[in-house]
Amino acid sequence: MKPISDDNHFKFSTETIAVPFYFVLFLWIVYWVELQFGYNFGKYGLYPRTSRGLLGIFISPFLHSNLKHLFSNSVPLFVLLMMLLYFYKKIAYKVLIIGTILLGFLTWIIGRSNLHIGASGIVYLLFSFIFFSGIIRKYYRLTAVSLVVIFLYGGMVWYMFPIDQKISWEGHLSGFIIGLLLAILYRKTGPKPFKYAWEKPNYQKDAFDMQFDENGNFIPPKPKEENENLQEKITINYHFKKNNDNFAPILKQNRMPIQKNVSLKEYNTFGINAKAEAFVSVTNLNDLKEILSNNKDVFILGGGSNMLLTKDIDKLVVKLDLKGVKILKEDDNFVFVEAQAGENWHEFVLWTIKNDFGGIENLSLIPGNVGASPIQNIGAYGVEVKDVIHSVNILDKNTLKNVNLENKLCKFGYRNSVFKQKLKDSVVITSVVFKLTKKEHQIKASYGTIKQELEKKGIINPTIKDISDVIIKIRSEKLPNPKEIGNSGSFFKNPVVKKEIFENIFKTYPKMPFYKVGEMYKIPAGWLIEQCGFKGKRFKDAGVHNMQALVLVNYGNASGTEILYLANTIRESVKNKFNILLETEVNIF
Ligand SMILES: Cc1cc2nc3c(=O)[nH]c(=O)nc-3n(C[C@H](O)[C@H](O)[C@H](O)COP(=O)(O)OP(=O)(O)OC[C@H]3O[C@@H](n4cnc5c(N)ncnc54)[C@H](O)[C@@H]3O)c2cc1C
Repeated sequence: MKPISDDNHFKFSTETIAVPFYFVLFLWIVYWVELQFGYNFGKYGLYPRTSRGLLGIFISPFLHSNLKHLFSNSVPLFVLLMMLLYFYKKIAYKVLIIGTILLGFLTWIIGRSNLHIGASGIVYLLFSFIFFSGIIRKYYRLTAVSLVVIFLYGGMVWYMFPIDQKISWEGHLSGFIIGLLLAILYRKTGPKPFKYAWEKPNYQKDAFDMQFDENGNFIPPKPKEENENLQEKITINYHFKKNNDNFAPILKQNRMPIQKNVSLKEYNTFGINAKAEAFVSVTNLNDLKEILSNNKDVFILGGGSNMLLTKDIDKLVVKLDLKGVKILKEDDNFVFVEAQAGENWHEFVLWTIKNDFGGIENLSLIPGNVGASPIQNIGAYGVEVKDVIHSVNILDKNTLKNVNLENKLCKFGYRNSVFKQKLKDSVVITSVVFKLTKKEHQIKASYGTIKQELEKKGIINPTIKDISDVIIKIRSEKLPNPKEIGNSGSFFKNPVVKKEIFENIFKTYPKMPFYKVGEMYKIPAGWLIEQCGFKGKRFKDAGVHNMQALVLVNYGNASGTEILYLANTIRESVKNKFNILLETEVNIF
């Protein structure tokens, strides 16, 4: 297992010695050829501001006027090249090649009108790059290297000034300037201090592996003492009620094909390759009842857009594919629409817009199915689905009775409902009844950048379609598309904190965004995560999205436990910095 940060930066290899050795050897060979065969390559040196002299940018570093000149360049060149290759391996060749060309070009521009030859420009380039890189990166090992370099070669600094007309001080100055510029340009590439546990070379033994038992099973991290009295932790509920016989009666009937050992990769938007022991798609209520009469402990799956699978599902996974949308009743002002649980949410939103039924346009492009929408009371852009839910039809897993639950009884809250609390795992939502407007739609355009986007389009009185179009545009630009990069939207809820906690943070961060919710303060979790430096960070294939820190992503082959590990690290960091414990929005299995 290889940590994200490349711990091989400081690895010694034959290349570290061979390249400087052959480079210097080549200079000596060129000099020997000149002496031996009476050539004078000096005329191919760099001659400022002439077209012929341009060739010297590439040739002059290999030419030396005498033995003393060659020797005085050979030693620092060898040492500094070795340092470059050892400490900055990833960018060493870029610095050497690009730096040599640029310093030559600068000398060609600023140099006096005579021939400039010798590798001393490169010596200054390397000296300057290594010195400034160590300082800029604030990495103690590289800062120490900078000090060594200044100790060894600090005296060279004077030769960048016109104190001796016989030397090409312009070449030295150019090398020094280009070295500094490259140190700034490449400051983010190559070695940097380890910020996170997993970046450390010996990290796997210290941190990550500790989270697995000898069979590779995930062991949730033990809570630290300081966190002991915190109200909620990420918990994983594994149910090992293995009983294959439960599937047998259904299999016998052969009506609903139950597949065994099915990968769920395509069925969860995080793209986690967990397996279902058995899998069935259910398209009508009777089949659902039949399954539940045999086995109540099933795993209900909607669009899989609000779950993180950290383990195989040792149960029958029931993909709820109940379809249909129908108008139950309507009057002049309102329409009551019942949508079946398996309807895709966004397609349902588009259907309401097509029919000019208002109320859920702000919830456009939220992934998942209608059946899950009441569970966490989905919300976006100033609207929550509770505002338009009339009632929810549920099937009680125990009694197998259908019950119509009025809005009030659903106990909706911020990303919360009775389905996440008291009724968790005991009911299946089979359909949802929405009360939508037919006229006098309540246009909500004040949230986020909706207004600006409407202005850009020159829309003053937006329709529900305008709002939907604008939100689709904003979301597509801001959020990663799960089809391209695995994710489950916001991983954490935005914390709602007491005034004292808010004020405490606000003192240090007066630019902190927040929303007042009654007496409480809602702080964007993404902002807190960003302040802890996680935005754009990556741990193997698990990462924090680079545009939206609240979204954890799967870059390809991350496992659920890797994403969970990252989530726990983020929670710990936010807790330590702001004394706020983030709650997960995503369901973890
Ligand atoms: C890119 C992206 C953006 C998102 N943006 C938002 C957003 O803006 N606002 C927001 O609120 N959410 C957002 N989400 C989260 C997610 O889309 C919603 O929570 C959605 O309602 C989940 O629906 P689902 O069908 O995919 O549920 P699933 O992930 O399939 O299921 C979630 C949980 O509900 C249970 N469940 C599902 N259906 C039923 C049912 N019919 N009866 C009983 N239990 C059931 C499952 O067992 C599971 O425990 C986003 C997700 C993604 C990937």
